[in-house]
Amino acid sequence: PTHLEVADVSLTYESRRGRVPALDRLSFDVAQGAFVSVLGPSGCGKSTLLKLASGLLRPMAGRIRLAGEPVTAPRRDVGIVFQQPTLLPWKTVLENVLVPIRAMGRDASAGRERALELLRLVKLEPFAANYPHELSGGMQQRVGIARGLIHDPALLLMDEPFAALDAMTRETMMDELQRIWMSTGKSVLFITHSIPEAVYLSDRILVLSPRPGRLLHSVDVDLPRP
Ligand code: ADP
Ligand code: ADP
Repeated sequence: PTHLEVADVSLTYESRRGRVPALDRLSFDVAQGAFVSVLGPSGCGKSTLLKLASGLLRPMAGRIRLAGEPVTAPRRDVGIVFQQPTLLPWKTVLENVLVPIRAMGRDASAGRERALELLRLVKLEPFAANYPHELSGGMQQRVGIARGLIHDPALLLMDEPFAALDAMTRETMMDELQRIWMSTGKSVLFITHSIPEAVYLSDRILVLSPRPGRLLHSVDVDLPRP
């Protein structure tokens, strides 16, 4: 079944510098449990697409549905990993991972064990009590990945999550992401500039045109999985 449906979606930014068409009649589906990557040149609307899929922005035309329901606001079953993790500097690493739980008005103590487990996953458990400024950029990015997983989301949206990581950490994180994906049946929409990452991880690769982003290609990848 279809998990995320993007149908005929267009979005134009209105700014003082004029109108910037970012996406143009974009349509695709992410099936339940599928891993779909989005490739495209800088500025073609990839981040915009994630903001739409997460309910942070509304399309000007077309529709976005999650399990058949229109997406109108951020939801618990959708996790986001941003390109820049924007951690809260006055909170510890552990507290930062728990931010989405507090944002939903829930008692953070309930998520503590889960947060520590996720910090173990991203190899940051020893840094749980540290503050973001004490961590490297790559480590902060890994905190952002743990934070995106805290609600155990059915749909995970990721905006170039590995771009800031060194090659070895990137490989480890890719393997971990693949393991999480295969063992939990999550659907993933994954934005990347890296063709090898897309080929290694995806069921399907979408290629967008230069701005405004239109769907140029949809390629099914059929690699044997470990
Ligand atoms: P990508 O993630 O593919 O680099 P974005 O979705 O960030 O692309 O942006 C798509 C286009 O829309 C870019 O040309 C960008 O400059 C423009 N854009 C993004 N956000 C805004 C905004 N708030 N106001 C005006 N233009 C914007
Ligand atoms: P990213 O690719 O990570 O979204 P960008 O550099 O495209 O980062 O944009 C950073 C922020 O600046 C965006 O979230 C958007 O709100 C704003 N922005 C980007 N392009 C424009 C633009 N042309 N005019 C106004 N705001 C913009």
